Formats: sequence, structure tokens, C-alpha cells
Amino acid sequence: MLGWFQKHRRKRYLKQPWPDSWSGFLKRNVRLVQGLSDNEMEALQGRIKIFIAEKFWEGCRGLELTEEMKVTIAAQASLMLLGVDDFYFDNVKTILVYPQSFRRQSDSGWLIDEEHRSGEAWQGGPIVLSWRDVVYGGRHRGDGRNLVIHEFAHALDGLDGEMGGNVSFEDEAIMERWKMVVSSDYHALLLAVRQGRHTFLDPYAATNLAEFFAVTSEMYFEEPYQLSQHHAELFDLLQAYYRVNPTAWQHTATQAD
Ligand SMILES: [Zn+2]
Repeated sequence: MLGWFQKHRRKRYLKQPWPDSWSGFLKRNVRLVQGLSDNEMEALQGRIKIFIAEKFWEGCRGLELTEEMKVTIAAQASLMLLGVDDFYFDNVKTILVYPQSFRRQSDSGWLIDEEHRSGEAWQGGPIVLSWRDVVYGGRHRGDGRNLVIHEFAHALDGLDGEMGGNVSFEDEAIMERWKMVVSSDYHALLLAVRQGRHTFLDPYAATNLAEFFAVTSEMYFEEPYQLSQHHAELFDLLQAYYRVNPTAWQHTATQAD
């Protein structure tokens, strides 16, 4: 249950005007929103305003955070929320932004960034993003990659208490179907990757079930039509989960090119 104060605060954020410059940031950096209808864009703008206001933002390694950075990140995360009401990744309080891919010190010493170390999602902790990769993911469509969606999918996955690749559905039958379809598609991918065969999904999805959910979520928003062709059942389940159908946006955005 949302507290009265939080609801009140969110209403106040919604009433704030939407700056013209923010539309410019979206146009320049977030290709995914280009296919949205006017109503969807209005809903997205509201979510972006609340998202930006409620998070604690911090630039790391000398990066000075700008409005453009906040809007670009918030827009891609908020796109994932268009199908739900009154949820703004409440489990993520802090967003740390590095200028580019980062190293971090762990118990075992310095870790060199591998492919997905351009971002991190911590259970109960911050989302960490490389600005350079945020922009790359936002501006390029058609490669199935989107760093912000990837990391925030991990955050959604963590809502049940662990980032294990299992997400919740109210309907138990859908929940069961999710487990079956994910298990079957994941193991087929694992086998194909081990045999060195070409796969539609990025082989990184075969790392574990958490990465499988994060990578398929990226595909769901970036390449929805292609995902529906290659993984029809999984696509349907992701649609039941996100409660939006991005194929309409993809079509419109492609037409607009
Ligand atoms: Zn990941």
C-alpha cells in the first residue's frame, strides 16, 4: 500500500511542467519512444517525472550528472512501466552513473569489466550504469541491446527477494506456463551455445536464468516482432508480464525512419 504522503507527492510531481528540452533529449537519445502514441507519450512523461524526482542520483568517477542523463535513463526504465500503475521501481532507491564501463573492487580484487559490466543491479541496492553505454543502447535500435532495460529487468526480477530469473504473475496457470516455457527455451539456448550454433538470443542469456530474463526483456522492447517470431510463447508471457505490446511501437518507429 502506498502511503498517503507518497501518493500526494507523486500527484505533485505529475503537475510539474514537462520542459521542452526534455523532449529534445528523448528525440536524440531514446529511439524506443519514437513509436509511442500521444496518450502513451503523455503517460511516459508522467512516469519519467516521478522516476527522476524519487531516485537518488549520483555521478561517479568525476561525472557531473545532467538533466539529459537523468531523462535518458528514466525514459528507458519508465517505458517498461507503461503497463502498470503506481509502480516506479520502488525497490531501487539509487542510480549511480559512471562515464563509461567501470571496474569495481570486490573481495577478490579488481574485476575487469566484461560485456555486461557496463551496468550492474544490486539486490536491495543501486543500479549502476555506464553513461556511454546508456546512450549507445538508447540511440541504436535493431541490435537487441539496451543497457537500461537490462539492468532494470534485473530489478524487477529482484522483487520476489532474489534475482533468480523468476518473476511473479497473479494467475497461477500463467506462472506455471512461465516456468515451463522459460526452462525449455533456456535449456535449448544453452545446448545451442555449447554446440557453437548461431542463436537468435544473445548467448549471454545462457549465463543463468537471471540473465535470460534480462536479455529477453531487452529483446522484448528492442526487437519485439523478431522475438515473437522466434520465441512466440515466451513473447506472449512477457506481454502478460509487462502488459504492453511494443510491436506497435516498433512498426511505427520503423515507418518513421
Ligand atoms: Zn545482467
